[in-house]
Amino acid sequence: MTLDLSGKNILVTGGTRGIGRAIVEAANAAGANVAFTYRSSTETAEQLVQALGGDDRALALQADAASADDAAAAVQAVTEKWGTIDGLVVNAGITRDTLMIRMSAEDWQAVLDTNLTGAFHVAKAAYRPMMKQRAGSIVTVSSVVGVMGNAGQANYAASKAGLIGFTKSLARELGGRGVRANVVAPGYIQTDMTADLGDKVTDAMKGQIPLGRLGQPDDIAAATLFLLSDASTYVTGHVLHVDGGMAM
Ligand code: NDP
Repeated sequence: MTLDLSGKNILVTGGTRGIGRAIVEAANAAGANVAFTYRSSTETAEQLVQALGGDDRALALQADAASADDAAAAVQAVTEKWGTIDGLVVNAGITRDTLMIRMSAEDWQAVLDTNLTGAFHVAKAAYRPMMKQRAGSIVTVSSVVGVMGNAGQANYAASKAGLIGFTKSLARELGGRGVRANVVAPGYIQTDMTADLGDKVTDAMKGQIPLGRLGQPDDIAAATLFLLSDASTYVTGHVLHVDGGMAM
């Protein structure tokens, strides 16, 4: 079965770069109409809309993932433009890495606000329209770090572990309404977020990965497309590890 998203309207948070962008491009190539949010890269967002086929097929929305109002406006923009919201990918995320001894309350709060409370805001905004449609697929982007923990990432790991409990709860709440909720848990993926790790850390990382390489954004996009598509209509509450075997 090839993954076909024709006729589906999908919102991806944090879609201008890295993993989010790969998901946006793959969903567009699979036939979906795709809206995506971004924080600051307006020029990139506008170029991406054109690359996706223009305004009929794509919608760029400047929205801070940590804002409840922005989340509600983004979901509303999708339903106003295309009528339904069939897929939601909660991808926007940030890091503020440092050891606990140096981690400020602000470092903690900023990461939790964007990565976890942001997921609450946007999923809450999509909850009602999906429930009414009696159909929909929510995919949250967690991390191998949310499963295994990582020194220097207590805030990030807590936010990503929280996403797993959150998403499983949504799956239980919404299953009866035909709405599914699943998690993709990437390992170390080559994006701007991991660009500054340096050769030493990267080599050490590879040593922990049975497949022996870092992942690419397209690896995550492929797994996400599966969960958005009708190929996975009997899959909910699942954590799909896409990490070369790091966490098993
Ligand atoms: P990048 O830093 O490469 O891209 C982040 C994207 O999110 C950009 O489009 C950015 O927009 C957007 N964004 C950031 N903050 C906000 C915000 N407050 N509101 C709206 N949009 C925002 O990240 P990755 O692609 O590497 O990561 C994507 C997701 O995958 C994250 O949730 C991350 O935690 C997770 N992940 C990544 C891994 C990796 O190894 N890279 C591993 C495991 C999980 P703008 O361009 O405007 O800044």
